Amino acid sequence: MKRYTPLYEARRYKGNNPDMSDRKMNKETYALRKEVMQYVYRAKKLLKKKGYDMPRVNVRITDVNTAEFIRKDEKVYPLGQARQSDIAIWIPASTISSGYSLHGIVFHEILHAVFGIAHKNSDPLMKPTVSPDEHHNPSKVDKLFINNIKMGDLVWKDI
Ligand SMILES: [Zn+2]
Repeated sequence: MKRYTPLYEARRYKGNNPDMSDRKMNKETYALRKEVMQYVYRAKKLLKKKGYDMPRVNVRITDVNTAEFIRKDEKVYPLGQARQSDIAIWIPASTISSGYSLHGIVFHEILHAVFGIAHKNSDPLMKPTVSPDEHHNPSKVDKLFINNIKMGDLVWKDI
């Protein structure tokens, strides 16, 4: 049983992401993408209230190429990945039906992709692993998201 699932990023890759394959855009993929996009729009709206116009996020719905990765001698399974250079996030279709908080995962990946915020073990939203029972309180997730941006140095410099 996997007790922890990491939110794992792919920023080190310059070209295609070797960990994930993008799904073809069809009716099913659009429906999955729409579920992810609702949180992208939510983030954009939250930031707009703070006076920041969030740039477009490239959202890809994917299949995971390798079921498990070994990282630091630990078996891990990616729920999402992000890359800052082209503001891209990859969300596996399997994540969307996993029961893990999609709100938490998408907001975590946006913090990587848009703001370049790294993992922090002390932060509930930016720690590298998450369990299925976390981040199901929408207003708490929103607050953690905003708090991370206040702590980062990238965003407010860019305004
Ligand atoms: Zn991450």
